[in-house]
Amino acid sequence: MSNAAYQGQCLCGGIQYEADKLSGKMGHCHCTMCRKFHGAAFATFGSVARTDFRWLTGENLLQTFVADNGTKRKFCSQCGSSLVFESGEDNDLVEFSLATLDVAPVLSPDAHIYTGTKVDWLSIDDGLPKYLNGRR
Ligand SMILES: [Zn+2]
Ligand SMILES: [Zn+2]
Repeated sequence: MSNAAYQGQCLCGGIQYEADKLSGKMGHCHCTMCRKFHGAAFATFGSVARTDFRWLTGENLLQTFVADNGTKRKFCSQCGSSLVFESGEDNDLVEFSLATLDVAPVLSPDAHIYTGTKVDWLSIDDGLPKYLNGRR
């Protein structure tokens, strides 16, 4: 095993990755694309510097979906787990699906973003700041 702080994998285990250090910004994203991609009310991505992120196995199983706006989403072609989001804005950063980690992150998500498209059947009452769109 590696000495990296974080290890994660997809549902089938075919793809495994590791990360050394999370960067600060982690939001719960309620945008329509994240909802569809995850099949869930919202998606939570952790951020890590590209140099601190490595695929350990199964990189050949990754498939990429490119949305109309040019953003890329990578998922496991065997089990469908959503793994990585790339906005193209900051290529030095990898945003990965936080819930695919097998260890608990020391940082917690700090905001809800794109709540303007939140599903009606979810109420947010965790006290975190909410942004109708992105936080920038
Ligand atoms: Zn898989
Ligand atoms: Zn989103």
